[in-house]
Amino acid sequence: MSHRSLLSRVYGLLLLVVACRDATPPASLVSTRSDLTPPPCRLRFEPLQPSLAAATESAAERWSAATGCDIALAAPGERGDVTVELTLRIDKPDGTQAPGITSDDLQRIYIHAGSRASQQWETVPHEFCHVFGVGPEHLPGDGLCGGKGHGPAIDEAALEVACSRLACSAFNPEP
Ligand SMILES: [Zn+2]
Repeated sequence: MSHRSLLSRVYGLLLLVVACRDATPPASLVSTRSDLTPPPCRLRFEPLQPSLAAATESAAERWSAATGCDIALAAPGERGDVTVELTLRIDKPDGTQAPGITSDDLQRIYIHAGSRASQQWETVPHEFCHVFGVGPEHLPGDGLCGGKGHGPAIDEAALEVACSRLACSAFNPEP
C-alpha cells in the first residue's frame, strides 16, 4: 500500500468516526421545542426507580417494533437519553393531578407515583409519544398519543408523527 493510499484510508476512517459520533449524541434531543431536530433511530431510556423498569422496557420494546428503531433501556451505568422517574405531584391547570408529563427539553419523563401500577404501564408508552415528537399537545383520535383517556395502541397517527422525527426503518402500527 502506498503512503498516499494509507493516508487516505486513515482520513476515511477519521471521517467515519466523526460521522458515527454525529449520528448518536444524546444532544440530538435538543433543549427547546422550537429547534427540535430529528432524534436518531437509537434511544436509551433510563428508569430512575426500579419499579419503573418493567413498564419502561415494555414501552421501549413496543416502540422499537413499531418504528424499527433501536429503543431500549440504558445499560447499567450507561446514561440514558431520556430518564423516567416517579414524582409526587403533577399539577394540571384545573388543580387535578396528571398521571405523567414530559419535560420541555424532552429528556425527562415523570410518572405520578400515586397512580396505580396499571395506569403507570399505560402512561409510560404514552409519554414516549411526547418525546418522539407529539410535543406538548396530543393527537386527535383514540390512539396512544391521544389526549385524556387515550387508547393503548401505537396507531398509524402516532407512528406518522414519531417517524417524522425519528429515522424510522419500519412502520408497524399496533392492531
Ligand atoms: Zn400526553
